[in-house]
Amino acid sequence: MSMSSADTHCPYCALQCAMTVLHDASSDDAVTTVTGRDFPTNRGGLCAKGWTSAELLASPHRLRMPLMRQSNGTLAETTWDEALDAVAAAFRDTKATHGPDANAIFGGGGLTNEKAYQLGKFARVALGTSRIDYNGRFCMSSAAAASNRAFGMDRGLPFPVTDLDDARTILLLGSNVAATMPPFLAHLAGARAAGGLIVVDPRRSATARLTEDGAGTHLQPAPGTDLPLLLGLTHIVIAEGLADRAYIEERTAGFDALRRSVAQWWPERTSSTTGIPVAQLRETARRLAAGGAYILTGRGVEQHVDGTATATAAINLALVLGLVGREGSGYGTLTGQGNGQGGREHGQKADQLPGYRSIRDPEARRHVAGVWGVDPDELPDAGIPATALLGELGGPVKTLLVAGSNVVVSAPDVDALRERLQALDALVVCDFFLSETAELADIVLPVLQWAEEEGTMTSLEGRVVRRRRALAAPDGARSELWIMSEIARRLGAASTWSTDPAEVFDELARASEGGVADYSGLSHALLDTGIEAYWPYRSESTPRPFTERFAHADGRAKLVPVDATPPAPTDRGAELTLVTGRYLQQYQSGTQTRRVAELNGARPEARLEIHPATASRLGIREGALVAVSNERGTVKARASVTTDIRHDTVFLPFHYAGDECANRLTEAIVDPTSAMPEFKRTRVMVAPDAGI
Ligand code: SF4
Repeated sequence: MSMSSADTHCPYCALQCAMTVLHDASSDDAVTTVTGRDFPTNRGGLCAKGWTSAELLASPHRLRMPLMRQSNGTLAETTWDEALDAVAAAFRDTKATHGPDANAIFGGGGLTNEKAYQLGKFARVALGTSRIDYNGRFCMSSAAAASNRAFGMDRGLPFPVTDLDDARTILLLGSNVAATMPPFLAHLAGARAAGGLIVVDPRRSATARLTEDGAGTHLQPAPGTDLPLLLGLTHIVIAEGLADRAYIEERTAGFDALRRSVAQWWPERTSSTTGIPVAQLRETARRLAAGGAYILTGRGVEQHVDGTATATAAINLALVLGLVGREGSGYGTLTGQGNGQGGREHGQKADQLPGYRSIRDPEARRHVAGVWGVDPDELPDAGIPATALLGELGGPVKTLLVAGSNVVVSAPDVDALRERLQALDALVVCDFFLSETAELADIVLPVLQWAEEEGTMTSLEGRVVRRRRALAAPDGARSELWIMSEIARRLGAASTWSTDPAEVFDELARASEGGVADYSGLSHALLDTGIEAYWPYRSESTPRPFTERFAHADGRAKLVPVDATPPAPTDRGAELTLVTGRYLQQYQSGTQTRRVAELNGARPEARLEIHPATASRLGIREGALVAVSNERGTVKARASVTTDIRHDTVFLPFHYAGDECANRLTEAIVDPTSAMPEFKRTRVMVAPDAGI
């Protein structure tokens, strides 16, 4: 048959918009198109990234054969057998010479649930290493740590997205959804109509502009002062008698300590710290207490060295107001990557086994080892989080396999990271394009794209959705499941290594049984019937898991006191604060979207947003090339002079590589709880580029 179609979901962000892929192979030039499909999260809508996603399937940049580094330094095509033999030999030799933890795995939040699960198992069983973590550490780790601590469970939105439709007030902190997931805006319409969309962002972002003309309020705090802002709002809620005392008594623990902890954040102090007028602070607190309110956080408040404390403060505010675990109000975090939710549930994290279980828990080790058919005592201990793991490259770690991540663009302090990657004995990268990380590899393994494979993803709502194959993979590309099975076989690894996504999902469901993220009872076949499937599933879907009780043993949510003690900036002589973020037309490190003509044509380069007063003082004109620098590196970008940004702040997108790579400037310092790096508060100097 020359025409094929499949109902599937967008390859990009966590909204997982539903789409149908049509593939017409009737002519020599096969055509693949996508169309939006009705679904609660996107209601048939797609953003520019979704509409153009099929272009990647036929991209001329697609890798079709494994590549191996030659003695002359170039990458050249080789056979799968040769490539896989070389990978297995590298893992085997490294382990024999340096021990199991000298092998490492770095995964990604865009991998299907099946691949994320298999990657965790591959690290622990086939390699016997504790050294595995993934790029979700740079994305969701702070919110995840805060939610686990407060609720005993981390599900991004513990309610369906459509619940937001009836909100009267939405406090949106650090999320530019108008750029990252435009179909989500439909769910803000109710709050906007009620005048209750409150956007917290140091930039007048596209989302912040939606508050204008009576639709809400834009709070524009100084960068890095989200935590004092939330502490101050909680202070006002308690001081003005707006707290829900009956709810606090019945459903939470720790209120007295929390009340003491926010006592010092009186409105005038909060205002002087954040730059937000006292009247706006009071109005925000009162509006949140007036009913029908939701508090949502995004990376803007989470990607900080105090990200866990900030997310915790947002949760505390929501709990004191009695918003969580009730229909018609709530707290949630907007997961970013396509499978950012599932990617953190199945064992890619350094300290976790499938089902969101702690690898330190003896019962969890027994259960998962039983599913895997191995001795629980032989499973490695907890490893180290992503930034620390990347810091070991070329030192204790000698061989690294990267799957679904482009770390030399997305990690902090990439110039130093590039040197460490080059110091490895062997770098293996699985990708469908020659990403900037793959360019450094010794062996590159070409893999399938989203419309060529079966699997599942878990959306920002905790909803498990099916990814379906619409067309055959190009000759030469293989699934990561097949790659792991082939390497495991060459290493003589214990356990079974299925290459069938449905079988791997069944194993994943068994391994997760009894865990927090319990997928037991689900299967590809059941999902294909069109059921709604939110985890924890067991025998039925759980769209709102906190309605009766929270996931802690006592059923209560924990109010955890936090304080605002941001570390002093370390860069001498730097004068502006750099905030990194996103464009509508680009996605993450740009590996995919920089190869889509329409998207890259609209946003071909990084632009430095700078306030007119600051630009004038520094002698910078609109469109001029500028150098943004600090002690770690220099970025070149054209200036975009705009009043959308504060005079003390500049903005760069992080989607670009080379001279434009914003992460040449960010520092590999991390949140002590979540190990989230600091991406939103980097001190820099800006000057006209001397080369112009
Ligand atoms: Fe894809 Fe996200 Fe855009 Fe939806 S909002 S089309 S999931 S990138």
